[in-house]
Amino acid sequence: MSLDKPLIIDCHGHYTTAPAPLTNFREAQVAHFKDPLKPAPDGVVVSDDEIRETIEKNQLKLLKERGADMTIFSPRASVMGPHIGDEGISRRWTIESNNIIKRVVDLFPETFIGVCQLPQSPGVSLQGSIEELQRCVDMGFVGCNLNPDPSGGHFNAPPLYDRYWYPFYEKMIELDVPAMVHVSGSCNPAFHATGAYYINADTTAFMQFIEGDLFKDFPELRLIIPHGGGAVPYHWGRYRGLADMLKKPNLRDHVMKNVYFDTCVYHQPGIDLLFKVIDNKNILFGSEMVGAVRGIDPETGFYFDDTKRYVDNLLISASDKYNVFEGNARRVYPRLDTALKARGR
Ligand SMILES: [Zn+2]
Repeated sequence: MSLDKPLIIDCHGHYTTAPAPLTNFREAQVAHFKDPLKPAPDGVVVSDDEIRETIEKNQLKLLKERGADMTIFSPRASVMGPHIGDEGISRRWTIESNNIIKRVVDLFPETFIGVCQLPQSPGVSLQGSIEELQRCVDMGFVGCNLNPDPSGGHFNAPPLYDRYWYPFYEKMIELDVPAMVHVSGSCNPAFHATGAYYINADTTAFMQFIEGDLFKDFPELRLIIPHGGGAVPYHWGRYRGLADMLKKPNLRDHVMKNVYFDTCVYHQPGIDLLFKVIDNKNILFGSEMVGAVRGIDPETGFYFDDTKRYVDNLLISASDKYNVFEGNARRVYPRLDTALKARGR
């Protein structure tokens, strides 16, 4: 560990640039589900060179340009689509999606480490997700993306404090992995996926944690709410007040020993607010690059999602910066810490 020159670990990256055969597999799979007369796809056939090219031209290039070292990498969130097809469809798609992440990690072991998608499906038990989490951790993955709304925009799953989720949390603790609470694409036209649905889901998850007593039952559980915690930091007073009205302990004890926010907030004033309101120990560096917002901000001339730039601009101590870029991620993802130590980092 070096306080002066921390590893820059981006906790939030998806394989949004995956090669066409993965997308083709998914399209054929969904077409076959809707019309069994259409052929079922055999599998995803992709060469290492194809994978290498999609990474080198995109994520790796941008990481280097922006001065980051590595990314905690998962399948593309917007196409997880647990509401499409049935549990079997979701399971097969999830296995293919996670296997390709494993191949990226094997090709670029210094730069990427895996986080898995889960084969969730509306109304089914989490047994399949438990099995897939175990399979992926056995392959070296260090966490998972847990979807709080497998319906794709109707929010009809039990809230995250409900016992429905408990067997999965028990497995997370057994394996010592965190989950990023992350929805997928929206099938509800009222919710734009990345502009409304994602931020709604982040905010909703946080309020569910206030309403429940989840972390009393699972003091070791660690959950990351992405996109800067949705609307939560901006409305921090509302949530503190609601916790009080609901006769819950203060948020520091009730929620913030277990919940973390990333820095996927795409302008300086938003990052300033995040760091002013939320304790440094609860913030993990993330960019979600290449992701939801890909353009260049005409006001600054830099990419909106170049979030390292905003963090670099903060007037915080070297140890606070170390925590945000490296230390907090190593604490929240102990398997990442173990992998880094094995490399002498
Ligand atoms: Zn994401």
